[in-house]
Amino acid sequence: MKFSYKILICTIMIMAAAFGFSGYYFVNYIFETSLEREVSQAMDDSSVLQFAFETAALNIPSKYDILPDSIAEQIGFSLENSGQGNGRLLRLSDEEKRVLYVSDGFAGTGDFLDKASEETRIYQVLPQGEHYYIQTGTKFYALGRVLYLETMRDVTEVFKERAMGFSVYRRVTVVVLFASSLVMSFLSHWLTVPIRRLKDAAKKMASGDYRVRAVCSSTDEMGELTRDFNRMAEALENTIQNLKEEVQAREEFIAAFSHELKTPLTSMVGYADMLRSRKLEEEKQFLAANYIYTESRRLEKMSFRLLDMIVAKRQGAARRKTEVSLFFEHLREMFGNSADIELRISYEAAEVCADTELLTTVLINLTDNAVKATEPGGVIELKGRREEEGYRFLVKDYGEGIPAEECRRITEAFYMVDKSRSRSKNGAGLGLALCSTFLELHGTCLEIESRPGEGSCFSFLLPKEVLDEEK
Ligand code: ADP
Repeated sequence: MKFSYKILICTIMIMAAAFGFSGYYFVNYIFETSLEREVSQAMDDSSVLQFAFETAALNIPSKYDILPDSIAEQIGFSLENSGQGNGRLLRLSDEEKRVLYVSDGFAGTGDFLDKASEETRIYQVLPQGEHYYIQTGTKFYALGRVLYLETMRDVTEVFKERAMGFSVYRRVTVVVLFASSLVMSFLSHWLTVPIRRLKDAAKKMASGDYRVRAVCSSTDEMGELTRDFNRMAEALENTIQNLKEEVQAREEFIAAFSHELKTPLTSMVGYADMLRSRKLEEEKQFLAANYIYTESRRLEKMSFRLLDMIVAKRQGAARRKTEVSLFFEHLREMFGNSADIELRISYEAAEVCADTELLTTVLINLTDNAVKATEPGGVIELKGRREEEGYRFLVKDYGEGIPAEECRRITEAFYMVDKSRSRSKNGAGLGLALCSTFLELHGTCLEIESRPGEGSCFSFLLPKEVLDEEK
């Protein structure tokens, strides 16, 4: 069943119960009040009649010491007919409950008089066919006799009004429920619009459309829910996009890796076959063995780098406070003695929080690339400076440079600008990918500025958070 129908049915049920209860209570309250009024009227009538009887008894001729039955009957008759209107019903009985006078149509029960006393005027509501009466009873003394006076007052109208009240209320309830059902069906439909929108959006997402968003048009809890749903959809879309990119990157990685393996291996197999199957001239034999040796070294280096990347990703960076001079002096020792290039090192002293081994590898790779790109006699600058957000390392060369469109891709694994040239220099396109991975573990990334023919500047900023983290 639809949620809007459930709201509608619940509301109608609650309204019907509320109307039924309040109607019953209201009509009954009016009835009780009217009945109480009638009862007190009947009691007043009874006491007036009693008083009238007593007065009449006092005025009878003095020859009677005790009120005779005939006089009592006369007084009863005159009392019945003396009131305004002639609907008065009364019954007069003596001590033994023997009736002295009774009006025509008086149908009150007799046993009810047992509870009556001089002090207590009693009453009961008496249904008689389609009519209702209030029967009152009282005990009094008149001229040496104990008498009982009973009256009957017709209160059928009060009961009719109650029945009428119920019937009117029933009709009003039906009309009001019908009208409110119409309004509620519209309201419940309107209130559940956001739920339907969410349902549609969720359905579309379930069928694979992660770009879908639910329209949010309110600021209440439903609006909040819609916004949360949209945020969730956004997060899901991003995650799926990232996963897709990751899968694609892995596929590309495997394809590039296989390609990088296949090319040298094919040649190595060819050279090895040549060496074992034929007797070669000494020079050719050396060239073949040398190719196998250099390519094996290259593949070995490649496998080490891949392994380093995997291990570093798994283990993360073990950062500790280190003087930056340590890195620069290490680089000076490694590259400073080359006769082909001039190494210029300048840095501001500072302490950084870094994994010494990983950061040293990054700087060695960048410097090694700069050396490869620089013609003999060229200059390479290694710099370190404090910045507002952290400490920046720069490796700058004035070599061949990199075209802008290549800059975006050179950090991808196995990507080489000039494949044959890179391979000839023992490269496999993994150096910068390795640097990127290691820098990511330090919460930073590689920034590349390069112009073909003018040189390149590779830099990265070790952020302050990293610097402060373990202070
Ligand atoms: P490799 O191990 O082959 O050097 P890298 O990932 O380190 O691989 O470099 C990717 C490519 O980026 C290289 O093929 C090279 O052409 C280019 N490259 C890297 N550094 C420089 C540089 N300083 N100047 C010019 N080209 C560079």
